[in-house]
Amino acid sequence: MSRRRISIFGATGSIGVNTVDLIARAPERFEVVALTGGHNVALLAEQARQLGAQFVATAHAEQGAALAEALAGSGIACGAGPAAMDEAAARDADWVMSAIVGAAGLKPGLQALERGATLALANKESLVCAGALMLQTAARANATLLPVDSEHSAVFQALTGEPRGAVERIVITASGGAFRDWSHAQMREATPEQAAAHPNWSMGQRITIDSASMFNKSMEVIETHEFFGIDPDRIEVLVHPESLVHALVGFSDGALMAHLGPPDMRHAIGYALNWPERHPLPVERLDLARIGSLNFAAPDETRFPALRLAREVMAAGGLSGAVFNAAKERALDGFLARQLRFTDMSVVVEEVLAQMWSRGGLGNAAMSLDNVLAADAEARRRAGEVIAGRQVA
Ligand code: NAD
Ligand code: MG
Repeated sequence: MSRRRISIFGATGSIGVNTVDLIARAPERFEVVALTGGHNVALLAEQARQLGAQFVATAHAEQGAALAEALAGSGIACGAGPAAMDEAAARDADWVMSAIVGAAGLKPGLQALERGATLALANKESLVCAGALMLQTAARANATLLPVDSEHSAVFQALTGEPRGAVERIVITASGGAFRDWSHAQMREATPEQAAAHPNWSMGQRITIDSASMFNKSMEVIETHEFFGIDPDRIEVLVHPESLVHALVGFSDGALMAHLGPPDMRHAIGYALNWPERHPLPVERLDLARIGSLNFAAPDETRFPALRLAREVMAAGGLSGAVFNAAKERALDGFLARQLRFTDMSVVVEEVLAQMWSRGGLGNAAMSLDNVLAADAEARRRAGEVIAGRQVA
């Protein structure tokens, strides 16, 4: 059997490192075409040498010399800056991991889809910003989109072999993040360090803080709506502190298909890597007798307004998701820079959405990469202005 030709966008991040780990365990099954990363060129070069990659790119032009130096003698081609990122996306991998964080992951993912590749999508922001564009691009190029977010991988697995028309509801679970039981007053004083401590999952800093604010779950609700084409009122969020049940699909006959597994992203990554086959993965096997019990609770949309905002964004549609995501990314930058309180992130996002909705035209705008990026840029600019008006005293 020929080896699957793989590229990884965002190889040096949390998802990227886990993807490299799985590929390195089965070199006879995979051939690595291109790896991309950001500032950590030392790790990027080490990964490229380990996997025998053909091409490596860093997003940052000023890191080009350091990357070339780290790869000296390896014979591996490399580049830096936007043109090199385009070249990485253009190289002919047939399976691509989209693991850049933020809206920056949208364009390379679209480029891979345009080539007809299978895109394993960890970058949920692509679907939040431009779900219709991603799906249309995939359909036009006969490309395949596979979910990597653990909840969406779980739903995908629970749906396999089932008639889509029989799906009544999709339930995605949420650990509740670092502040599951904190009051609004406590969260108001929360620091980035406290927000970046996740109880169950080890992930990148930004998604971990988004988990604490429930912005991550709110984006995942939109991701569910876009990916599975299911009405927003059929999507539920369930708080489940153990993070062992990742999602449930409810069918018209009352059956609920639940997906369980350890909180280890190598399951969802490996499922996409091996799809449509299944291969052994180095993840813990759950001992439910030892675990004993699982807990579930309804989410609190008063303490976590992001969940309510996601529903408003889905109802408005069009470019609203791009605005929502960009305002959230800018608000998170403000929180990380200690210019904004934790609880003010949702206030900023709500304000930017209100401003841009009141101007009109967002909901029914046709979607192209250019107008998604324009809405993204305007939302970031407006969020910056709102943040400047709310600076932490
Ligand atoms: P991370 O911050 O650990 O890694 C991000 C990667 O993107 C790094 O390789 C970084 O160099 C690269 N990058 C950052 N900014 C870039 C830019 N402007 N241009 C090009 N490359 C850039 O993030 P992560 O936790 O691995 O998450 C990656 C994506 O996967 C996110 O969309 C996240 O929501 C999603 N996701 C992550 C997890 C997880 O367990 N970490 C789970 C589900 C979904
Ligand atoms: Mg998730």
